[in-house]
This record gives sequence, C-alpha cells and structure tokens, in this order.
Amino acid sequence: MTNLICSGCGKKLLSYDKNGFRRYKSPVRKCKKCGKLYADPRCHEIAIEGVPDDVFSVKSYFFLIIFGVLVAWRGLYMFKRIQLGVPDEMQWFMPTVFLIMGAVCVIGGIAEIIFIKTGGKARKYERLRIESEERLRNNSYAELLRELGYKF
Ligand SMILES: [Zn+2]
Repeated sequence: MTNLICSGCGKKLLSYDKNGFRRYKSPVRKCKKCGKLYADPRCHEIAIEGVPDDVFSVKSYFFLIIFGVLVAWRGLYMFKRIQLGVPDEMQWFMPTVFLIMGAVCVIGGIAEIIFIKTGGKARKYERLRIESEERLRNNSYAELLRELGYKF
C-alpha cells in the first residue's frame, strides 16, 4: 500500500495499491482540509490509457469460480469437523464464512462472464470511454491533469 499525502497541508489523502482495482472516472479530487486539488491514482482516464485486457478475460473469472468452489467445499468439509479451541456455540461460524465467501466468488464470477458474453460489459466501457473523451476535450481540464502529475 502507498500513501498519498496532500502537498498543501500534509494530510493523508488516501492509501492505494498500485495493482489494485482501477476506477474509470476523473481522477481530479480536492483535499477536504485545505482545498488543494490532487489526482487520485486509483482513477484513470480511459480515453488516454485504454482498458486492460483482463477486464474482458473470461478465463480470469473462470479461475475465480474454481477458487470459489474450493473455498465453499472447504467450508462444507469444516461443518463436519470439531474445531479445536472454538466454543461449541461458535462452531458454525468459520464454516459459514467459508461457504459464503465461496458462494460470492462463484456467483460473482458467473455474473461477470454473462456480462462479458452478452456484450453488456463492452457497452459499459464504451460509455465510460465516451465520458472520458468528453472530459478531455476540455483543454483546461487536460491541462489540470498534467499539472496534477497524472501520467499520460
Ligand atoms: Zn490539504
């Protein structure tokens, strides 16, 4: 995790992971304390950078589904075992967490694959690209991005 510090007042603005989730919207933000503008490194202008291939990769979501099945399976297995050091009334807790986590991965993975296959995801990113282009058509906005150190 990397911290972003306000260059105006030194307040911690946010912490982010360089390989973390990418958001496709304007990165321009304002420090809540002193009002200085900054670029949120998690946000990207799609018209400049394009979309990484893995956004439309069915394979990566397929692996997510397999992962979810394994986690859920592990949860089911744990239901039949007594966990040492866990009070009787809490024995259900960890298996249930595993089961829910696994189910979320499976359902999320299937939903993403359907979203890709039906073209819904492509339409969503096309809409984001048009919005990004419209923002960048404004010269003062593009200039502001450069001033804030947004990497082109
Ligand atoms: Zn500040």
